[in-house]
Amino acid sequence: MQEKNRKKRILIGILAAMTLLCGGWTITAQSAAADANQAAEGLRAQVDTLNAQVDALAADNGPLQDQLDTLRDENKALKEQYAKLQNDYDWLHENNEENVNKLHTLSAQVDSLKTQLAAASTASSTSSGTSSSSPSSGSTPKQTASNTSSSRTVYITKTGDKYHASGCRYLKKSKIAIDLADAKAQGYTACSVCGG
Ligand SMILES: [Zn+2]
Repeated sequence: MQEKNRKKRILIGILAAMTLLCGGWTITAQSAAADANQAAEGLRAQVDTLNAQVDALAADNGPLQDQLDTLRDENKALKEQYAKLQNDYDWLHENNEENVNKLHTLSAQVDSLKTQLAAASTASSTSSGTSSSSPSSGSTPKQTASNTSSSRTVYITKTGDKYHASGCRYLKKSKIAIDLADAKAQGYTACSVCGG
């Protein structure tokens, strides 16, 4: 009887042990499955996140593509503007050369006019006289009264070959009054300082 009980206890013991083992294994398996599930869910979440990121990137790429297109257009526009400016520059450069040529022509014309004016001025001063242009000659009544060069009094020196207006610094040493026409007839020329 004791022997039977003992065997029964051992059997129960083995059974209990097996039950425990099985239960343990089941728990372990369930735990592993849960872990796997969790991991799978985690992965799924990560995939979802990545998908969302991909979508976001795709959405971002739209504007980026637009920006790229815009930049390409701007670049093209800038190139066109540059080409246009280059053309303008070339045109202006050519035009500038033309203007410079015109300027030279005008300058030559001005020179020509100046020469004509000087000739006219000389002719006019020869015919009408220059007594009014000499301030120092105003002191002599005779010169003020007469406006023609033929009767104007100028002054020569003993040694010089120039005739001077009264008050010229070259007349300090000698001052000989002479009619302008006579002075010219004798070969005297106008002083470069006082103008004669
Ligand atoms: Zn003089």
